[in-house]
Amino acid sequence: MECAVSLGDLLGRRERAIPRGPFQVAPLFAKRARGALLWDVDGREYLDFCGGIGVVNVGHNHPDVVAAIQDQAGELIHSCWHVAMYEPYLELAERLGELVPVPGPCKTVFFNSGAEATENAVKISRAATGRPAVVAFERGFHGRTLLAMTLTGKVHPYSAGFGPFAPEVYRLPWEPFYWPGERGDDEVELQCRGAIAHLFAYHVEPEAISCLLMEPVLGEGGFLPVHPVAARCLQRLCREHGIVFACDEVQTGFGRCGAMFASERYALEPDMVVMAKSLGGGLPLSAVTARAALMDAPQVGGIGGTYGGNPVACAAALAVLGVLERERLAERAEVIGQRIASLFERLSRDHDFLVRPRGLGAMRGIDVVDPGSGLPDPVRAAALLAEARARGLLLMTASGNTVRTLMPLVITDEQLARAMKILEEASIAVTAAAVAAAT
Ligand code: PLP
Repeated sequence: MECAVSLGDLLGRRERAIPRGPFQVAPLFAKRARGALLWDVDGREYLDFCGGIGVVNVGHNHPDVVAAIQDQAGELIHSCWHVAMYEPYLELAERLGELVPVPGPCKTVFFNSGAEATENAVKISRAATGRPAVVAFERGFHGRTLLAMTLTGKVHPYSAGFGPFAPEVYRLPWEPFYWPGERGDDEVELQCRGAIAHLFAYHVEPEAISCLLMEPVLGEGGFLPVHPVAARCLQRLCREHGIVFACDEVQTGFGRCGAMFASERYALEPDMVVMAKSLGGGLPLSAVTARAALMDAPQVGGIGGTYGGNPVACAAALAVLGVLERERLAERAEVIGQRIASLFERLSRDHDFLVRPRGLGAMRGIDVVDPGSGLPDPVRAAALLAEARARGLLLMTASGNTVRTLMPLVITDEQLARAMKILEEASIAVTAAAVAAAT
């Protein structure tokens, strides 16, 4: 492929024109992408296990999504829902109302990003309950805007230096609810109840809590699935105290975890579902869906925005939902997940720096640690990613040291096998480098 610009030039321009804050997975400029493949400006091909951070579950530039975007752009790019309504917004709200595991009838409102959707989930819950407090988890991630950042349960890099934070945000510890170690169901129940009792005794009374925001699988927090007993315990707790049980399915949704929504895998019936990422197939679109009575609580004009539920983004999302269904991508996620799970099991047996393979559906993670101390080893994780990238596999971490899989679910068997082989070779290279350094 012809190379119009050099990577070196682009990196130099990036350095001069863009602040360091927006992080980079790799020094890479993308030119184009299709399905599970991405090409950089030098024409190098990568198998993409990042998928735009979980945004292209239906694959890069799926022809149905491209066609829907082109058709809609030819008709109406923007009128603003508040000014002149349009059918794609309506149709998508109706579809999501049927799809979410929330006992209906449901209503939906659209926004642009995951952060904006989590902020509005809190606003709607507060309006509906008349209560100020919100409960989220240590290690949880809900975005980078002020309230979303406050809900996000990790200091570096998300909240350090950005205070003061939004008030009335309380946090549950992650270990009782998410720790993947071997625990009996009774033990989990006991530990979860203990953590909740501690929250109510020393931080906030249940009658002041509007909503509890839970990721069914911690995304940025390290690809840790909630324990099924913990999930049910939280749902019960919310029901008991009139707290809105909100599932943040921004990263777990749209087939990634082997069902349309990960909460279905736990047989949960949340009161509210927060969505973004793969919903728009690459266009900025997020949504909050909940029972009509909850959703109608905010006053007219209290929620919304200029771009939320833009016609082109809604048309893309309708195409995404069609592809997910027709190509049975949730089922495919389970098959992909099983193959990755057995690879990760093998890697954790063969390499002392790879531990705790885990996940749900095709959302799988494995930790990179220092074999001596067992502590997280982000430097070694970066070396593993660099080895993989040099062999043509684009990977990223969560929480610095968890290798995570967010490949498009349309990845072919051949591409998946190739990617797994690269991951295996990269792990061998990292082990060999450690042995060489020690001798
Ligand atoms: N919630 C979860 C679970 C996420 O994974 C993310 C982003 O990674 C967000 C919210 C924030 O989404 P956005 O980056 O679109 O604001």
